[in-house]
Amino acid sequence: THFGFETVAEALKEQKVGAVFSSVASSYDTMNDLMSLGIHRLWKDHFVRNLNPGRNPLTSSSSEQKGWNILDIAGGTGDIAFRMLDHASTINNDAHTKVTVADINPDMLAEGRKRALETPYAPSPRLSFVEANAEKLDMIPDSSIDLYTVAFGIRNFTHKDVALREAYRVLKPGGVFACLEFSKVNNTLFEAVYKRWSFSAIPLIGQVVAGDRDSYQYLVESIERFPSQTGFRDMIKEAGFLVPGKGWEDLTGGIAAIHKGVKP
Ligand code: SAM
Repeated sequence: THFGFETVAEALKEQKVGAVFSSVASSYDTMNDLMSLGIHRLWKDHFVRNLNPGRNPLTSSSSEQKGWNILDIAGGTGDIAFRMLDHASTINNDAHTKVTVADINPDMLAEGRKRALETPYAPSPRLSFVEANAEKLDMIPDSSIDLYTVAFGIRNFTHKDVALREAYRVLKPGGVFACLEFSKVNNTLFEAVYKRWSFSAIPLIGQVVAGDRDSYQYLVESIERFPSQTGFRDMIKEAGFLVPGKGWEDLTGGIAAIHKGVKP
């Protein structure tokens, strides 16, 4: 049946995404650096600085909850989580903010746990790892999260609308959904250069550096298929979020974008 076919196709997609990330887990950082010429680090720094995670004890009242409860979805190797904890501690003088890193792939989580040993946060109640599908976060109670982050993850989800509704469910009223993701380049000349880079150079780098052309080819195609800035902004609205301003910020001419939504 049509329904049966769809289910098989979706299961295959999930399997394929799983295989891609298991295959790239150990070379993940090197590949990100090569593919983005190191720029992904600047985007991630900007993303976190702009969210300003943590509650400064000097500027908040003593009746307020100490620290934020953050959920970093598709958090993989912990890139965003470590930055958020560093920011909360050093910029906001907040030693209470907690981050739960959730990812569907055990190999990416294992890499994250390993890397956490080199930070001040493991073992610590401020950082935890959980294997979970963004579309079904049963272990996270309703209205319990202050900030939900997802960086370079959502384009891999099978049902993005379902994941957005789960984000809405777990956030507290006033809580923020923040997404850093590849997006659409907004200059035609730049777009031509970018397309040539992504469709020719990235799979080749994948083949030479990670011995895995197919996974990197998949990554490029998933970027191409992901909705435009306005399309994704509208999906966030459809999930029930209020969208501040125009709803997104372009990074490096739209190669990536930050989208935000607030749960009313
Ligand atoms: N956030 C990290 C970063 O910025 O470096 C990792 C991003 S990595 C490109 C994408 C991650 O999404 C992978 O670790 C993958 O396992 C995870 N992922 C894919 N589908 C998922 C799903 N349905 N639920 C949770 N995580 C998922």
